[in-house]
Amino acid sequence: EFSSITHGFVGADLAALCREAAMNALRRILPDIDLEEQTIPKEVLEKLFVTKNDFMDALKFINPSALREVFIEIPNIHWKDIGGLNELKQSLKEAVEWPLNHPDAFKRIGIEPPKGILLFGPPGTGKTMLSKAVATESRANFISVKGSEILSKWFGESERKISEIFNKAKQASPCIVFFDELDALASMRGSGAGEPRVVERMVNTLLSEMDGLEELKGVVVLGATNRPDLLDSALLRPGRFDEIVLVPPPDEKSRIEIFRVHMEGMSLDDDVDIEKLAKKTDGYSGADIAAVCRKAGMLALHDNIEIKSVSPKHFKKALKKIGPSLTSEVIKYYKHLTKELERGI
Ligand code: ADP
Repeated sequence: EFSSITHGFVGADLAALCREAAMNALRRILPDIDLEEQTIPKEVLEKLFVTKNDFMDALKFINPSALREVFIEIPNIHWKDIGGLNELKQSLKEAVEWPLNHPDAFKRIGIEPPKGILLFGPPGTGKTMLSKAVATESRANFISVKGSEILSKWFGESERKISEIFNKAKQASPCIVFFDELDALASMRGSGAGEPRVVERMVNTLLSEMDGLEELKGVVVLGATNRPDLLDSALLRPGRFDEIVLVPPPDEKSRIEIFRVHMEGMSLDDDVDIEKLAKKTDGYSGADIAAVCRKAGMLALHDNIEIKSVSPKHFKKALKKIGPSLTSEVIKYYKHLTKELERGI
């Protein structure tokens, strides 16, 4: 019966629907429980019985037509899927996971967590992965929006869309809203390019939505950009993106870890030497390393479709085909930017 009622629902909607129905069942048997504050005893969860009515009530909130363009995802990337960046993982845990899962602790101590965190760094270094992983690990929903998409796909209704995103996020709380390519949104403000007024109004909508987010109500905004220097400085004021962090190009040690992540499921000859590969891949981003591993696998199959494992020579060839995407100028540029940002731009 549900399959016909839920026509137009995508997988994430169905997951959200089940979750909401289970929450309804919990509220039914424990009317006084504060689902945000309290943990549910295991015995209760084991006996939890979700009825048809719980689903019908959930259907009132989980609406496929409204979700059609603003997708709520339930990501499945974990910390262990990200090589290196250990300090960053820890600071994201503190800045995002703690406020979402332990708002009471912040209230008790009397401090406010950041509302928005901006990740910047060269392409392919793991900004999107980090954002998804922090959502997975904090068991939060995830809404991802590209700056360029807001401008093109939703042109003429961008402000309404931005508000819709925030409304959806509040409904789906705890929720992380991820604005990718944030510079596409903010760079044109006042610069005379394109339709500056449209962009300006959009940035203003974004700012006022961020201002309107109440502390500790379960919505955190993450932004990603390759060009933080282009961002409107209003976005970087306290209460907006008030933490700005570099996601750096991976150093040798991190490259070892990234190779490990991507070789995890691969069948490799014993003499594939990860340390040597990490030494040879200065300037390779995480995305480049992922591509090298894939390429090596393809080259092995190309040699012989019956082949059992990938050998060092396939990696050697793959490195010839896939070069580093980060030049020393690019790396220098981000170092310089970090200093500028520390001083406040
Ligand atoms: P960004 O958002 O910084 O442009 P992504 O997070 O989208 O980069 O990364 C693109 C791809 O590169 C990922 O899907 C993953 O395969 C690989 N990748 C990037 N950084 C890492 C990392 N630190 N560990 C493992 N894989 C990585």
